[in-house]
Amino acid sequence: MKPELLIAAGLLALSLSACGGASDKNAAKAAAAQGKNDHADEGHADEGQDGHAHKEAAGEAGHGEGAPGKGGGEEKPEAATIPNEIARRSGIVAAAAGPGTVADEHDVQGLITPLEGRVARITARYPGPVRSLRANIGDAVKAGQTLATIDSNLSLTTYGISAPISGVVLARNASVGEVAVEGTPLFEIADLSTLWVDLHVFGADASHLRPGLPVTVMRMGEDKGVDTVIDRILPGTATASQSTVARASIKNPDGLWRPGSAVHARVTVEQQPVALAVPLTALQRMDEGDVVFVRDGERYSARPVKLGRRDARRVEVLSGLKPGEQVVVEQSFLIKADIEKSGASHEH
Ligand SMILES: [Zn+2]
Repeated sequence: MKPELLIAAGLLALSLSACGGASDKNAAKAAAAQGKNDHADEGHADEGQDGHAHKEAAGEAGHGEGAPGKGGGEEKPEAATIPNEIARRSGIVAAAAGPGTVADEHDVQGLITPLEGRVARITARYPGPVRSLRANIGDAVKAGQTLATIDSNLSLTTYGISAPISGVVLARNASVGEVAVEGTPLFEIADLSTLWVDLHVFGADASHLRPGLPVTVMRMGEDKGVDTVIDRILPGTATASQSTVARASIKNPDGLWRPGSAVHARVTVEQQPVALAVPLTALQRMDEGDVVFVRDGERYSARPVKLGRRDARRVEVLSGLKPGEQVVVEQSFLIKADIEKSGASHEH
């Protein structure tokens, strides 16, 4: 067998096994190294895989082996040669490094709350036994709609109590025949068409947040949510949690957001332009630290890079990489594995 084919076979085997535990482990390791986990894997969904792959494969036939002096062969050859066809089939995609933006993002926890002033507690005007109840917990009621009737002990007539606002019945503390007492709420109704999202921000993070910043509110365990903005930073501190509260509001036309629900949210403080950025998926850790793999024809060289700011998708590259160089942005762990494997076999 030609050595090329051996590599090819090895890489294919690798990419097959990577579908199981290997890639997860790798991703987990990478995520741990990066200290961020949420979205490392969706960072480049917008970079058309086909576009890159085809362009690369078409243009590079012929000079894969033709640049012997390149890549600095002083110590270990931290590079792999992978035929274009194998690279393509393994899903390896390279893209030109270039400028980008890195966001200062804050991931925060929050709580959905009804708007103050949009909650009504309805009490009996005159004491007396409840004659009928006409609304249940969860019912949507209109302003003016009768919720219950009560036999007044004072006037000995039956009177109705009605909803002062339109909304949803959150609580009902009444049974037929029971005596309604003045001042004890029988119903609690809230207008939930708009809700507050109170985001709890701790320590120095609070100083980064201000009204007007975009925020995405997500249910726990979910990754997609609704976009809104911070309305205000509440004065004072929530005493129990010692947090500062940043308040946003969301529309709730279908009633799917529920008061009392915990949520998480991502606040984007600013998008900062950087001269050079790569998706997090391009990063791998090797002995020399953080590396990306630069593609030159069929040769992939590990390139130690110094990193700057990062967000959930991208990281700024301060040095080690030049604009325009082709960086592997998908399946970079395959290159790493290939280099590490060949490195080990060279050293015995
Ligand atoms: Zn910040």
